[in-house]
Amino acid sequence: MYKITATELLDKSDVKQIPAIFHDNFLEFLVKVNQFRMLFGKPMSPTSFFRSQSKQIAIYKNKAKKKEFPFTDGVFDASKVPMGSVHMKAAACDFADPHGEIGKWIMAHKNILPKLGLYVENPTKTKGWFHIQSIAPASGNHIFNP
Ligand SMILES: [Zn+2]
Repeated sequence: MYKITATELLDKSDVKQIPAIFHDNFLEFLVKVNQFRMLFGKPMSPTSFFRSQSKQIAIYKNKAKKKEFPFTDGVFDASKVPMGSVHMKAAACDFADPHGEIGKWIMAHKNILPKLGLYVENPTKTKGWFHIQSIAPASGNHIFNP
């Protein structure tokens, strides 16, 4: 059974080395996501892992251009960019899920999330991708709304 490797995650990050303060998060995430993947039993393709502050701002600037994110008086406002994303702590990854297969599977196997210490965005709200993280959201819910 193929594992999700550190290299694979780094390839889907905007840095090639995770900052030292997030190393422990990175290693813990890698172990947990592979436990998840073993239970799921099928390949999983990462699409977005670690995001630096500048990458997060760039993503939201792009959303603003497409009018998916509010401007203030027509000007992009970096202070409105959510900087609490767990992607920025090397503890969250998005996986391609074009047919919602991972999402449907987890909804039928919710009990594994507290066992593994993992948290997912409600897959009914993330069409085409699947977000999983190893740090609890503010709500503490294992399935939470993005
Ligand atoms: Zn995500």
